[in-house]
Amino acid sequence: MNEIQAGTLYIVSTPIGNLEDITYRAVKILSGVDLIAAEDTRTTLVLLRHFNIIKPLISYYSYNEARRTPELIEKLASGTTIALVSDAGTPGISDPAYRVIRAALDHKIPVVAIPGPAAFLPALVVSGLPIDRFVFEGFLPVKKGRKTKLAHMALEERTIVLYESPHRILRTLADLRTVLGEREVSVSRELTKKFEEVVRGTLTEAHSYFSSKTIKGEFVVVVAGTSGPQPEQTET
Ligand code: SAM
Repeated sequence: MNEIQAGTLYIVSTPIGNLEDITYRAVKILSGVDLIAAEDTRTTLVLLRHFNIIKPLISYYSYNEARRTPELIEKLASGTTIALVSDAGTPGISDPAYRVIRAALDHKIPVVAIPGPAAFLPALVVSGLPIDRFVFEGFLPVKKGRKTKLAHMALEERTIVLYESPHRILRTLADLRTVLGEREVSVSRELTKKFEEVVRGTLTEAHSYFSSKTIKGEFVVVVAGTSGPQPEQTET
């Protein structure tokens, strides 16, 4: 059976660091589509070269997605098969994809997800915090809405997952400590990469750990909700 169907939009997850984390199916789909829409064509070229895939690329990123979406829809409607990839992980998870997915569905164009890596899931799994229920908040707003978001998070019962950049990790850990109070946290850095590390403890401990070093890499912060384990109950 030819799995690739004409005029379909494939949302393809790609590695978040270790290229071996790509799925067989993702390679097959990327090799078989007519066109790949990529958040950053240079980043995707590196991935494609690694797997000996040669395909036309078109950019689809936050600043051109409004303009690009109708173009992609027109191509899909005329039978072109397109794979959408982001720089890393799953398109749509704190990455552009929503707009074209929504437009494709509105035009009755089939949308198929090719599942694979996303940074929040491994971070959650190794956190040691309850994972039966969780809430993904993506990046905290940098300015407007930050206080309100933090205030809502303070009341959240479920485990909370956040993405953060190296420039803001200390500020975010400090703000979480101030607004949520002392909590258990797990901070995953550089998942699947050479310098992967997971720092577990209280918000104060995690802040002090990262304050003591040069901060590099990408971060996922997993914080206990109000019904999660509290620091004073933690066995040492
Ligand atoms: N689409 C991606 C996904 O599925 O996870 C997320 C893209 S978002 C623009 C980038 C953020 O994801 C980073 O700032 C970081 O918070 C997180 N991230 C991506 N790769 C990571 C990694 N290898 N280790 C830790 N965090 C990572």
